[in-house]
Amino acid sequence: MLVREAKLLNGAKEQYLALDEAIRTAQFIRNKAVRFWLDNQGTGKARLYQLSKELPQEYPFVGKLNSTARQASAERAWSSISNFYRRCTDGAKKKGYPKFKKHCSSVEYKQSGWKLSDDCLTIKFTDKFNAGTFSLFCNSETREDLLRLKINRVRVVRRADGYYAQFCLDANRQESGVYTGKVIGIDLGLKYFYKDSQDNAVEYPQYLRKSEGRLKKLQRRLSRKFVKGKKPQSKNYHQARKRLGRCHLKVQRQRKDWAIKQARCVVASNDVVVYEDLKIQNMVKNHHLAKSISDAGWAQFTQWLDYFGKLWGKAVVAVNPRYTSQDCSNCGHRVKKTLSTRTHNCPRCQTEICRDTNAAINILKRGLEILGVEWNSTQGHWETAEKSGTLGETSTSAVEGKPDSVSRIAEPRIATARISRYTA
Ligand SMILES: [Zn+2]
Repeated sequence: MLVREAKLLNGAKEQYLALDEAIRTAQFIRNKAVRFWLDNQGTGKARLYQLSKELPQEYPFVGKLNSTARQASAERAWSSISNFYRRCTDGAKKKGYPKFKKHCSSVEYKQSGWKLSDDCLTIKFTDKFNAGTFSLFCNSETREDLLRLKINRVRVVRRADGYYAQFCLDANRQESGVYTGKVIGIDLGLKYFYKDSQDNAVEYPQYLRKSEGRLKKLQRRLSRKFVKGKKPQSKNYHQARKRLGRCHLKVQRQRKDWAIKQARCVVASNDVVVYEDLKIQNMVKNHHLAKSISDAGWAQFTQWLDYFGKLWGKAVVAVNPRYTSQDCSNCGHRVKKTLSTRTHNCPRCQTEICRDTNAAINILKRGLEILGVEWNSTQGHWETAEKSGTLGETSTSAVEGKPDSVSRIAEPRIATARISRYTA
């Protein structure tokens, strides 16, 4: 599935209000479905579909929403319920009991309830909310895809700066990667965004820090306009609220854009990428580090590493970060150090390098162990380990630069790397 997005423009105020109403109705149906599941034991997906058909009899306004969109809302409820069941059977610590939603911001249509014009320049919503026609603002790539591919679903999303239509297209992104024969280990840090095993550092452009002053100012203005207990709040309050929302949206987009570009760079110029699998949520609990960590957007970065790895058939491996910053990358001697110690000094082999580089080399080693390949740092190329199993042959030929064989080792491993990350 491929998702493309276009902004909905040139609508009258009433048209956008109609979209709001549709979104609210979708939320209502979802919540009703969860309520039904709570009250009736053994409710399944089919029963919720049935419920989405019955609801309009009781609440006439629900009937205004397209029938497939009603179904999609019931599906949403079911996905939260089935995820809860799955976590229960998995024995997860946090079960994530289905909750009622209060601030939904999207509604999903399937095959009907909307119509694209032949040139894909406008979209018309045809259900009884009568939202009418909007212009679609998007790049040419998206427009070509809309003309070419089959559209499975259309989702209307409300954001701080307007309304968007997301098109779920019936295609898979397929690209062939360029193979370079290089491997890389990545240590995510606070001082740098990451440092790799070749001692290259990438610094984080602190967008959030820069915009922070502005965010704080807007937040202050908003709180000044808030009157406790007043309902509704004043017009000025809502104006300020929207302004703050737009500012947050901008920072969010800048961060995402940067994370994607970095991840793309890393995966494009390496065949094997190894990173440490950090438990970011746990780390954010440390309040001294919380802001820098969530600011740095590591989670997003590693997600995109995985994505590009899959897209280009390269091996992207997450490894357990335990002791990577303490063990000596040269002889394996464990050197205890605190967060503030910036260099790694090994008493046994007298190695003296930056602590982050040391960690990056350890991470790379650990990743290659998982893949069954041995890294030989003095000769600068990688050799197959004799002890490695079935992967031995294919990875040797990978060094000789046959892209086909690289993808052969890469593909089956990507899926398993996440599972077997702690086996090494
Ligand atoms: Zn050492």
